[in-house]
Amino acid sequence: MRRPGDILLISCYELGHQPFHLASLMAMLRQAGYSPVAVDAAVETLSDEVIARACFVGIAVQMHTALRLGEQIAQRVRSTNPAAHICCYGLYALLNADYLLYERGIGPGTINQGTISQGTINRAPTDSVIGGEYEVPLLHLVAALEQDQHATIPGVRTRDSESAAWVQRTPFVVPERTQLPALERYARLQVSTELRLAGYTETTRGCKHTCLHCPITPIYQGRFFAIPAEVVLQDIRAQVAQGARHITFGDPDFWNGPTHAMRILRSLHQEFPSVTFDATIKIEHLLKHRLLLAEMKELGCAFIVSAVESLHDSVLQRLDKGHSSADVAEAFALVERVGIPLRPSLLPFSPWETLESYSALLDFFEQRHLIEHLDPVHLSIRLLIPPGSALLDTLDSHTWLGELDTTAYTYQWQHPDPRMDELQRSIAALVEQAQSNGADPLETFFCVKALTYAMQGRDFSICDAIQRYGARKILPHLTESWFC
Ligand code: SF4
Repeated sequence: MRRPGDILLISCYELGHQPFHLASLMAMLRQAGYSPVAVDAAVETLSDEVIARACFVGIAVQMHTALRLGEQIAQRVRSTNPAAHICCYGLYALLNADYLLYERGIGPGTINQGTISQGTINRAPTDSVIGGEYEVPLLHLVAALEQDQHATIPGVRTRDSESAAWVQRTPFVVPERTQLPALERYARLQVSTELRLAGYTETTRGCKHTCLHCPITPIYQGRFFAIPAEVVLQDIRAQVAQGARHITFGDPDFWNGPTHAMRILRSLHQEFPSVTFDATIKIEHLLKHRLLLAEMKELGCAFIVSAVESLHDSVLQRLDKGHSSADVAEAFALVERVGIPLRPSLLPFSPWETLESYSALLDFFEQRHLIEHLDPVHLSIRLLIPPGSALLDTLDSHTWLGELDTTAYTYQWQHPDPRMDELQRSIAALVEQAQSNGADPLETFFCVKALTYAMQGRDFSICDAIQRYGARKILPHLTESWFC
């Protein structure tokens, strides 16, 4: 297990960033004396030779898209190198453990687990899954495999042993990025016509909030951990040395610990005054810590992402988002006043959104001249309900919830108004096509509005709407759309 390439770490998709969740693990494995090899399958070729050499393959699946891709890679590893131990780690790994650890159609309790764990006819995608803070459990797992031990390892779930998520403080070390593809291979910050190399880091793990639809909630259950400021700053220094002129802070919420976050930003700005940054901050925190916004601008904030999700108060309450539609309007006004663009992420298709409220959401962005703040893909996002989701415990879930679709890693659900499901499908197809054609996002927005109006039996002229909208803002944004 200690020869170069015995341990293979694979990333499939990290929103167009150089993969933090490989870099972090690489550093800890190296510190423990291993020589892992990392492949970012999003931008590199994963060769059969590399797979065949590995004894242990770790696949990072922090989000839904990554899991879809990661499962395909796991199947390929299984057929190329049946003897390798395959471990999926990250939020979605543990949530989907029952599917990932068992052959399709064969669940826990329906097999002779002993036979399968001895590896005779194992076709399940993975041998172990780890959720939450994955580094320490994964190191323990590698050490156990190296010594051929089969004891239960806290934080590691296998076919033979149950274990909950490991949600304890990790002894963080500076991520190891030297083996990863250059930053030129990843999304950049676009400011007008200028493209800047962008790095990525995190200052915290987990989240202190418990929004019901969020995959972090069932794993972290309201806990979060700060990564030491010096570790974060060293990670930033390494990326600036690679050419980064912008840093994305990918924390689930950058202001779960605002004092920690601001301390890091002040040091970043002092050391690299021309480096800009973006961060994800929830509406509630933007309002609560509004006095920090002007300083954020001075320190180089290019934009803030916020999970607005919906503008229908009853939906926001259902999700326990901690903000109202009026709060969203106030947050937009606050950040606009200090000159920071707010880029919302949306979840506009849930069982509680209505055709009227979806139409009102489009009006909100059009009437306030905020269409440029949106990535069109967000107009099509449909609620995912992974196994273990806190939404499953809501009192009326039996009225809208369907069967678990294990291959799609989500429970099925149908909207009580069939027009909403039809509209979602049409909009998803439209924005996908628009994105692949490089269409004008403003035009795409109004095409979405035309589909919505048609569903309501109303007339709508896309050309007139574009003309009425008038002058456009040019806002800084990353060159890859955010979606999970
Ligand atoms: S604030 Fe954001 S990251 Fe935290 S639980 Fe809610 S949706 Fe998830």
